[in-house]
Amino acid sequence: MSAINQHPSRIDRAGELRTNQKTLDQLWSQARILQISEGRIAATGKQLTFFSDEDVARLVSSGLFAEGSRYFLGVDIESRKPFFAWDTQWVEAKSDEEKIDGFSTVREIGVKLSEQELELSLHAVALSNWHSAHPRCPRCGGATRVDLGGAARFCDADQSQHHPRTDSAVIVLVKDRSDRILLGHQPVWPEGRFSTFAGFLEPGETFEQCVMREIFEESAVTVSELKYLGSQPWPFPASIMISFEAVTDNPEVARGDGEEITEVRWFSREELLAAIKDGSLLLPPSISVARKMIERWLGHSAPGGETWR
Ligand SMILES: [Zn+2]
Repeated sequence: MSAINQHPSRIDRAGELRTNQKTLDQLWSQARILQISEGRIAATGKQLTFFSDEDVARLVSSGLFAEGSRYFLGVDIESRKPFFAWDTQWVEAKSDEEKIDGFSTVREIGVKLSEQELELSLHAVALSNWHSAHPRCPRCGGATRVDLGGAARFCDADQSQHHPRTDSAVIVLVKDRSDRILLGHQPVWPEGRFSTFAGFLEPGETFEQCVMREIFEESAVTVSELKYLGSQPWPFPASIMISFEAVTDNPEVARGDGEEITEVRWFSREELLAAIKDGSLLLPPSISVARKMIERWLGHSAPGGETWR
């Protein structure tokens, strides 16, 4: 069975082009530009909306949007056409409806996008989240500015450069010796939503130790025979999901921890499909790595569960 997300990138991030501002300005003038405002990407229906530098200049001069920041996302592998994100805000306060019109979150639109568009969106949103959360220098508290075409921030006061951080989280498909899988329900999810187990890596911990700790904490089973499946950027706000499967020899002791996980259920393939059909099981959304892990085990795509919460 194939691994998860192990295809090469559809974008050349072209880090060597980030260091010269003149080069970046020139790339901007030829770029396909993705607009981001308040975590949402300009998109209609199933596609991202790409702007030219002239479109951006017009939106700014009309007084609709602020100057904002430019992040270089890389170039198309074949055409070498550059891509940028334009991270901006409305100049005048808008209602929630107005903000949503013509914009989508990656969670809403991700599953409909091409792999290249999804990659661009994840990169752009991750950068936007990080820049907006780090306006100040962690050393001296001074204001920082965008550096390296958005790949870093710079503090002019103490000449320090700051790089985005990505939080590692493991996500695990737990199986028993009969090839059933264990899924858990979180109380913040809609009723019937069950998914794989996940948790953040702690400082000084290996991914493997994290898998064993999280699974034991959340479901009370012990696991071994860990197998790496793949990874998925999850910039909500700044994570990467590192995906494993693992096997337990004591499936009968499985139970939720009562806080993060309030219910656990074992599923054979037949039980999983029957539960989807009778409405008692709602799978995580197709864009999620959890869904890909479950479908990989199932051997084909599963129906339902598109909406995210
Ligand atoms: Zn500083």
